Amino acid sequence: MSIQVAVNGYGTIGKRVADAVSLQPDMELIGVAKTRPNHEAELAVENGYPLYAAVEDRVHLFEAAGIDLAGTVEEMVSAAAVVVDACPSGIGAENRSLYEAHDTPALYQGGEDADLVDASFNARGNFEAATGADHVRVVSCNTTGLSRLLAPLQETYGVEKARITLVRRGGDPAQSGRGPINDILPNPIGLPSHHGPDVNTIFPDLDIDTLGLKVPATLMHTHSVNVTLESTPDAEAVRQLLDEQTRTFLVPEGSGIDGAGALKEFAMDRDRPRADIWENCIWAESVSMEGPDLYLFQAIHQESDVVPENVDAIRAVLGTADAEESIERTNETMGVGF
Ligand code: NAD
Repeated sequence: MSIQVAVNGYGTIGKRVADAVSLQPDMELIGVAKTRPNHEAELAVENGYPLYAAVEDRVHLFEAAGIDLAGTVEEMVSAAAVVVDACPSGIGAENRSLYEAHDTPALYQGGEDADLVDASFNARGNFEAATGADHVRVVSCNTTGLSRLLAPLQETYGVEKARITLVRRGGDPAQSGRGPINDILPNPIGLPSHHGPDVNTIFPDLDIDTLGLKVPATLMHTHSVNVTLESTPDAEAVRQLLDEQTRTFLVPEGSGIDGAGALKEFAMDRDRPRADIWENCIWAESVSMEGPDLYLFQAIHQESDVVPENVDAIRAVLGTADAEESIERTNETMGVGF
């Protein structure tokens, strides 16, 4: 029998996760829940996804908008084998008691605190940590990107210390209220940014310092990476290692892809849904070794890199596949890998 999955919160992450779940041969999307009858609610109905009201006293708003509801969020959660909570930061924590009341395991997103859950999750980094857990957090877009990069480096060469500067997009393209509009903000000004400690929820013993900046951009984040390795491979060996990973894309030298704009164009030209880029995009030319120090630049598509991770986390929590099997199935069904 397929795994019955519900998605609570049908926004940037939720709508992508719902689409990815509906592509899985071993899963059934039993519904999505929304607070408001907006264009995304209409999209859910157009896609044939049963739509549930996240807030009971707003049912009349959906009725007034002519949008048919399948029921309330409680009914959806009680019918699900697992619920993916993709509500705004902090709302997941408020929803935890709802999932507990129905004994439904829940996946939360990176905006929630690590101490809300039994385990934080990255498929390449610590798949098994989620097995059997009732409350699991799929780490943020940036932590996902860092975990995918650091896992193979740690396994193959050992990591003495990672130092990462994250140049973060001010907001997603549809977030018209976010900024900065005309500034470059150290964010936070003090060390560390929350990303280093967040990476430690996946790799507790990894020595990592992170600094963050926010810039007037919406398309992707960019990481400037320096990792001191415990051995001294040449740059070509590191490139090959990263190329062999299934969720890292080595941007070829000479491709003319010089930034996030060109990466998004590349994704659109290849008919990616919503121009999503699920992979870390590592510029091959930037991969350099100076003694034991590795340097590189990578770009991370904040709206989509966590989507395949959510699909894998569903299998990890229920123990229906191991890491290799799940990652391969997710990649194949979604078309991950350029
Ligand atoms: P979003 O605002 O785009 O979507 C959230 C959706 O949840 C909206 O449709 C909102 O109406 C709905 N919602 C609000 N309250 C609700 C409730 N009580 N019940 C059900 N639905 C409710 O937010 P998002 O960007 O998709 O972020 C969701 C989570 O994913 C956050 O934890 C965020 O930190 C994390 N995340 C976001 C990004 C990103 O770049 N957008 C990347 C990685 C992780």
